[in-house]
Amino acid sequence: MPELPDLTVYVEALDERLQGSELQGMTIASPFLLRTVTPAVDDLVGRIYLGCSRLAKQLVFELEGEYFMVIHLMISGRLQWSQTAKSPPKRNGLAAFHFSTGTVLFTEASKKKRASLRLVHGRESLAALNPGGLEVLDADEAAFVERLRSVNHTLKRALTDQRIFAGIGNAYSDEILLRAQLSPFKQSAKITDAEAARLFTACQDVLLEWVTLLRGKAAGKFPTKVTAFHDEMVAHGKYKQPCLVCGAPIQRIVYAENEANYCAKCQTEGRLLADRSLSKLLKDNWPKRLEDLENL
Ligand SMILES: [Zn+2]
Repeated sequence: MPELPDLTVYVEALDERLQGSELQGMTIASPFLLRTVTPAVDDLVGRIYLGCSRLAKQLVFELEGEYFMVIHLMISGRLQWSQTAKSPPKRNGLAAFHFSTGTVLFTEASKKKRASLRLVHGRESLAALNPGGLEVLDADEAAFVERLRSVNHTLKRALTDQRIFAGIGNAYSDEILLRAQLSPFKQSAKITDAEAARLFTACQDVLLEWVTLLRGKAAGKFPTKVTAFHDEMVAHGKYKQPCLVCGAPIQRIVYAENEANYCAKCQTEGRLLADRSLSKLLKDNWPKRLEDLENL
């Protein structure tokens, strides 16, 4: 699922192409996509694009008059750009947003249609779609630590819950925890001051580094290779491969239809995940389906 770094690069690419353009129409190809009844599509057509932003893991297109298109890509939703007018692709096409400068295509490469579009009028209605997580890149260390200790979850859960922190998901939480050399299964309320400081720095560094890296990969073009798996990642998706920090094999634990990767040498003092930490993670109030958490 696209997280803060991927979504930041989408926001930049959209702003560059849509600034000042007019929404001239919208083709919705999938009956599952639109999750709101009012305002109507027609209420948005003819309005000028004012900018794009990220709200937790959602993308928000702002149109004049406080009209918003809120897109949740979920796991397989992606955006494409076409300078010429285009219809949604037959295969995987969810919608096409026709702007005066070009078309934004919304696709989803999965049979399970999870991606969503909400049309919203007014900032209050938009605020209701904010799960409330802290924006780590805008926060100082004190605010970060306070938020972390306000709940007692495993660190893996705390980082990925959009009600606690915004924009971080399964992939970047693996990367952040390895950087911070902290176990994914450590309880957030029990973290020491030094560990909390390390986690804060790791969050900021990893997210900023990846924004820069993904921006470089897009190289001014509209991002086309949006994926949770990258060669440059240290932990995520690297099961059995040597840790780039210490050379030990990366471990994995499967939970809630998902997988966490970690390095035992760097993060758990060499301990492979014991039953106790596994059950701690499993009992950590995870929803049955991870999408329930991601969908917040
Ligand atoms: Zn390691």
